[in-house]
Amino acid sequence: MIDTHCHLEMTQFDGDRDEVITRAHSCGVTDMLTIASDVESSEKAMALAGQYDGLYYTCGVHPHNASTLDDWAIQRLRDMLPGASAIGETGLDYHYEHSPRHVQAEAFLRHIALSKETGLPLVIHSREASEDTLRIIRDEDVRNGVLHCFSGSPAMADAVLSRGLYISFAGVVTFKKADELRKIAAIVPDDLIVVETDAPYLAPVPYRGKRNEPAFIIRTASLLAQLRGITLSDLDRITTLNSRKLFGMGQIVEEGRIAYKIRDSLYLNVTNRCTNNCGFCVRYQTDFVKGHNLRLDREPATAEIKASIGDPTIYSEVVFCGYGEPLLRLKTVEETARYVKERGGVVRINTNGLANAVHGRNVLPILAGIVDKLSISLNAQDEQTYVELCKPAVKNAYGQLLNFIKEAVKYVPDVTVTVVDVPSVDIEKCRSLAAALGVKFRVRLLDNVG
Ligand code: SF4
Repeated sequence: MIDTHCHLEMTQFDGDRDEVITRAHSCGVTDMLTIASDVESSEKAMALAGQYDGLYYTCGVHPHNASTLDDWAIQRLRDMLPGASAIGETGLDYHYEHSPRHVQAEAFLRHIALSKETGLPLVIHSREASEDTLRIIRDEDVRNGVLHCFSGSPAMADAVLSRGLYISFAGVVTFKKADELRKIAAIVPDDLIVVETDAPYLAPVPYRGKRNEPAFIIRTASLLAQLRGITLSDLDRITTLNSRKLFGMGQIVEEGRIAYKIRDSLYLNVTNRCTNNCGFCVRYQTDFVKGHNLRLDREPATAEIKASIGDPTIYSEVVFCGYGEPLLRLKTVEETARYVKERGGVVRINTNGLANAVHGRNVLPILAGIVDKLSISLNAQDEQTYVELCKPAVKNAYGQLLNFIKEAVKYVPDVTVTVVDVPSVDIEKCRSLAAALGVKFRVRLLDNVG
């Protein structure tokens, strides 16, 4: 777990900084980003980062102290930026307004200029200043950074996410009256969410009112995981990857995974090939799903896939999925599914339903007895919509897909068809179609994969 925003250089930690960092490590918080709020704290943050493994620093002047950001201060920050992970915190604070608004805006602009000059991300603070924060972000075309301790509206979340800016959640999301914030936290895309403590401030429930510290991040992260319907381990993997990408804190996993766990399921990534080119396909946007790298540099052999499974009974199901269409490797899927079933596992295949078209025969009898569940991407209510959305390489794809679904129910006990919630898809027509075909129906949210 990475705490992307704490203030360990502050005097509140002078008496027990070693113990605080040790407690964080023992709770699984491997890395922390200590955030400066003026020139002096930038110097302290830089010095601390040199003393502790896994501690990184930023340089910047908080909007409270914006009046102190003169040319000398900018030059001092610039001197310290080599080795820093980010610039900030900067932004606008109209709640306390310790510095006049126009001075805060000017300081924000100077931080933005430093970010563009160095390529370092911005750590942006915005309190009761959404409109002006967004105006400056838009006017200056800011696309590299994070809105820390997010507490804005859904519209503000949309606006910053659409620019590729990250959203960071702090202990505030655990507070009793934070219902709207919890709704936002549930749906921020996996690739743009990070987590923080803002220690020593804003301790999460049940520590609210006490001095906050990085070890407490587990409380916030656990709630975020619950809101998003994933495990704490999933949330950790997702936010750790994002923190590494954004701030360069540690190594990103370069190698594509064959087997990967999400919630209590094990997924198998047997190919990155597919005969469709769906406009919404996540593999065109990122190499990662729920923090797992799925970009294979070669297709794994059947023996490698079997070896990556371990004991299949410890998972609720073993799912052939990954970044591609698993049934393109029919023989591999058949052998591996049989292997899992012989060892007491439950097998599901996520497929585009075009295997019969690709292989030129009915492959479903092969799956009888070795596959428990099929999840088939229906994706559209009619042929024209399907072709526009999925750009299939095979002819008469939609008709072949419908025939595949009709055949599937004869050989696989549990069949579900899915659609992605995009504007051209008529969800209700698809639901009726699923009912007519005698299969279950599920709607997937766009960009919410895994
Ligand atoms: S069928 Fe699945 S893997 Fe293939 S392009 Fe569409 S979304 Fe991507």
